[in-house]
Amino acid sequence: MPNDCIFCKIIKGEIPTDFLYKDKEIVAFKDINPQAPVHILITPVKHIPTINEIQDDDLQLVGKMVNVAKKLAKKTNIAQKGYKLIINVEKGGGQEIFHIHMHLMGGW
Ligand code: 5GP
Ligand code: ZN
Repeated sequence: MPNDCIFCKIIKGEIPTDFLYKDKEIVAFKDINPQAPVHILITPVKHIPTINEIQDDDLQLVGKMVNVAKKLAKKTNIAQKGYKLIINVEKGGGQEIFHIHMHLMGGW
């Protein structure tokens, strides 16, 4: 992992963060600059820069990210009304942090 990856630092506990979900493979925490009443980032522990670098062995991680998003949507009471799951890919796709993550946004 590159030492300048802010999400790796968050995951390793080098930046104090309240985790809404954490296991060996996936973590979730609030976005620092929320664009929705509920705005949570779900990210794999493994440093993968963009969706373009996903390998076949990583596919289960992407499935787990969606499953964690589903659970957190229920926990934050936005599941019924609806929400967005967004993965930005590369600069042209709006990606700013090059450690893949899914945005869970809702609660409008
Ligand atoms: P991207 O544009 O890469 O899809 O999304 C990156 C997101 O990470 C942005 O919504 C931004 O607000 C969030 N972010 C950037 N730095 C930090 C940080 O240090 N802590 C947290 N919790 N979120 C961050
Ligand atoms: Zn990273």
